[in-house]
Amino acid sequence: MQLTSNFSLAEMVRSQTALRKGIPNNPTASEIAALRLLCENVLQPVREHYGVPVNISSGYRGPRLNRSIGGSTTSQHCQGEAADFTVAGKSNFEVCRWMERRLNYDQLIYEFGEPGWVHCSFSANRMRNMELSATRNSGRVQYLPGLKR
Ligand SMILES: [Zn+2]
Repeated sequence: MQLTSNFSLAEMVRSQTALRKGIPNNPTASEIAALRLLCENVLQPVREHYGVPVNISSGYRGPRLNRSIGGSTTSQHCQGEAADFTVAGKSNFEVCRWMERRLNYDQLIYEFGEPGWVHCSFSANRMRNMELSATRNSGRVQYLPGLKR
């Protein structure tokens, strides 16, 4: 199933961990609708601006998969509202700065620099346009306000 012209449902639910451990990762109809909104409002505009592949490292996470990877129980990945991605040949920081200027979203997180990834969520009910930067400090994840290199 294609969600937008460049994004398929398959790539939004694909998970190395789920494959390796045989964990099913099947979104409900409403979670698929949320994934479609995320693609339409965030991922497809990024793809069209840069004109190069957007590689999704994590999209939807069902409850079992999320537990298995130690994800937060309130993660928007579990609602189909968030994706982690990189853009081929572009720095994550540059992508975040462009998104900050041009797109609406709930949360945009510059996660763990370069290499690292961009986390972005989109929710029909919540549009905080909030930017954060995630760093590791002695093994603990810290979230700082704003986009910081
Ligand atoms: Zn994420």
